[in-house]
Amino acid sequence: MNTRIITIDGPAGAGKTTISKLLSKKLGCVYVDTGALYRGVAYEIKRQGVIWENDEVLEVFLKNLDLNFLMEKDSLILISSGRDITNFIRTPDISMLASSSSAKPQVRVALLDIQRNIANTKDAVFEGRDMGTVVFPDAAYKFFLFADLSIRAKRRYNEISEESKDIKQVQEEMKIRDGNDSKRKAAPLKPAEDAIKIDSSLLTIEQVVGKMLKCIDKP
Ligand code: C5P
Repeated sequence: MNTRIITIDGPAGAGKTTISKLLSKKLGCVYVDTGALYRGVAYEIKRQGVIWENDEVLEVFLKNLDLNFLMEKDSLILISSGRDITNFIRTPDISMLASSSSAKPQVRVALLDIQRNIANTKDAVFEGRDMGTVVFPDAAYKFFLFADLSIRAKRRYNEISEESKDIKQVQEEMKIRDGNDSKRKAAPLKPAEDAIKIDSSLLTIEQVVGKMLKCIDKP
């Protein structure tokens, strides 16, 4: 791989997406939100009514799955079989279904090539849960971003536009998702041994990105 890959892993709401976007902008490379791929899988499972807990059914579903990213300026567009599904993957039920279905090793294997193919052709900041541990163990720089649960829940709550939003529910769902993601056997959420850990609880986005830039050599 002749490209320069930077990974950012961490739990939900730690600020990975915002920070990856800003960091990639400063470095002049692309950013890839790998959570969107797992959300895309969950969206299709729900839309097609797939009994994903059954391994044979899951195998057929994954064979027919056609997910891809379109990179447009500052944003990433998620395409499923030619259709833009970017705006349908951020609901609470898709978050939970992404978290449970992503524990299936077959799902993770099916998404590996998409991620590594991008990395083969472009310098990139990849954010997710297993970027530094499994997908890009040889990444040039690895970061693990975390923050207190109550702070992460508050950030996520502020992003939600629905009137019926409830901070306690947001926090509870985040806790369940963190638990699923950290305890699963396949590629659990954890820092790579050589990852630089950053607690973003009391830091602004610019401060976190500043800390990262200090660790990264100019290309
Ligand atoms: O990052 P985001 O919250 O959008 O991810 C949704 C879910 O996708 C996570 O809760 C996690 O279960 C799964 N995921 C994963 N591995 C990644 C990225 C996301 O398992 N690299």
